[in-house]
Amino acid sequence: MKFSELAAYLDQLEATNSRNELVRILSELYRACSTDEIEPTTYLIQGRLAPFFEPVEIGLGERLLITAMATAYGMAKEDVTKAYRQSGDLGLTAQALAPKTRRNVPSAVEVHRRLWEIAGTSGEGSLKGKIDLFAALLKELDASSAKHLVRITVGKMRLGIGDPTVLDALSFAKQGDRSLRPVLEAAYNRTSDLGLIARTLWARGVKGMDALKVTVGKPLRSQLAERLPNPEAVIKKLGLVGVQPKYDGFRVQIHKDGKAVSIFSRNLETMTPMFPELVAATKDLAVKSVILDGEAIAYNPELEEYVPFQETTARRRKEGIDEFAARVPLRAFVFDIMFRNGSDLTPMPYERRFAIVDELLKGSDTLQAAPLTKTDSVEVLTRELLDNISRGLEGVVAKRLDSPYQAGARNFNWVKLKRNTSGELTDTIDVVLIGYYRGKGKRAEFGAGALLAGVYDSDKDEFVTISKLGTGLSDEGWRALHKKVNQLEVTEKPARIRSILVPDVWLQPDVVVEVLADEITPSPRHTAGMVGDRPGFALRFPRIVSIRDADKKPEDATSVREIREMFKQQHQRAVRE
Ligand code: ATP
Repeated sequence: MKFSELAAYLDQLEATNSRNELVRILSELYRACSTDEIEPTTYLIQGRLAPFFEPVEIGLGERLLITAMATAYGMAKEDVTKAYRQSGDLGLTAQALAPKTRRNVPSAVEVHRRLWEIAGTSGEGSLKGKIDLFAALLKELDASSAKHLVRITVGKMRLGIGDPTVLDALSFAKQGDRSLRPVLEAAYNRTSDLGLIARTLWARGVKGMDALKVTVGKPLRSQLAERLPNPEAVIKKLGLVGVQPKYDGFRVQIHKDGKAVSIFSRNLETMTPMFPELVAATKDLAVKSVILDGEAIAYNPELEEYVPFQETTARRRKEGIDEFAARVPLRAFVFDIMFRNGSDLTPMPYERRFAIVDELLKGSDTLQAAPLTKTDSVEVLTRELLDNISRGLEGVVAKRLDSPYQAGARNFNWVKLKRNTSGELTDTIDVVLIGYYRGKGKRAEFGAGALLAGVYDSDKDEFVTISKLGTGLSDEGWRALHKKVNQLEVTEKPARIRSILVPDVWLQPDVVVEVLADEITPSPRHTAGMVGDRPGFALRFPRIVSIRDADKKPEDATSVREIREMFKQQHQRAVRE
């Protein structure tokens, strides 16, 4: 497939604002791919060269791209800059400057290979090399191809193709319907690598999915926790549980393969350089290969207290990781093990996995097994919850002792009980900002009035609305938030948003904010949970508590299923009271 053919598909994907169309166009593209083409194509359509967890950077920012464009099109840099200022989009600038058609456009595979080569060019004097290679590539591309190449390079694809959409499209391409999605999704939960899944499906068919096992170096999708309102409900539903403190730190998935250690965040980004002390401690473990799951939290030895999440994550924005590590060292409380010395441990019951963690970490100070209390008593669970809250922790997580590690699942194998869930207030909800209203009065000064917020429907890979937001932040906070969202403005409703309300401005779903509300109520105006005649859900008296850009992608926002569950629990509570 020529890169220009791929670009034509990308143009079609860009033009649609229907999610079903996204799936249809994408499956058509997949059908046109050979086994060799499907893997690089899968990365390219998401604006990447490799799976999300591999930190491959092309390393050409806007300024360098302008230089490369000037070289490719025989223009002065100033003129390219001027054209860019007018369009405000470097991709469109390249499209305007490049000839409409070219003969002998390279293949998509070839473009992917050459971008990979540019990414790999490093060291002294590498910038010139990168620019020359990129300019040479641009010179071979027609206008539409140049636009997409530049967008991929600056990381601004904006096609809004979420991972479930890719899985649906693969299923349609192979089978003509959605029926393969569960098998593909299971393989995805184990490997997090869509390109690998696509290639394996093409080369070996559905049976090939079984061969995609848990592998050191490829993060598994994180297991997540459900909510229940109080300790009584937990014991009633789960019986005997293992109770652990819920640390408000930073989720870390630690992989060790011989001497090599990698650390991944909750949403599977590579974070290894941020945690030198965890890397060192993992190297010291007496095990050849291992995958551990835990929560890293900064510990202040002088004050003998844990430092909250905000400060723990501040480290990744700051330069002095080493100084920070010396002043406020990190610990990781390890609560799970998924792999050891070649064996997948995920099917094993939790009690046995935890015993292995406990044994493995004996003698390590930096890596500690998260303390586990086994109980089937409401009193003991309540005591644990209150005790952990009084120690400044978030609450507890209660886990079924006989449960496997279910990558990517949020179910009652793990249940979180937080201060909020046990007190008067409900738990917070993470919503995605998807639009705003131009507003009058005070807030108009900051560039906008109310924001339109949504939650995520993972089955459909859609964002559905749940609330307008207008309170909770300081003036300073609103200003900062609007600055952030201004960069996400789009002229048409993105394909993955389903909404009855039409805001003045649509936003690319990207920013996640944490919201506290008094109640979840049925609403005919919001699409969250709306099915046929059944109304959707809305938030009553929502206020923003924090902006969660450090660790949540839009797809990690609260899901429709969770909202429905919270609504049910709230209803049950009301009936009891
Ligand atoms: P939250 O906003 O409550 O952190 P979340 O969506 O990030 O929610 P949940 O599934 O609600 O994740 O809660 C599980 C999270 O709690 C894990 O991702 C992990 O970061 C954290 N955590 C802290 N201590 C533990 C523990 N002992 N066991 C499991 N998870 C823990």
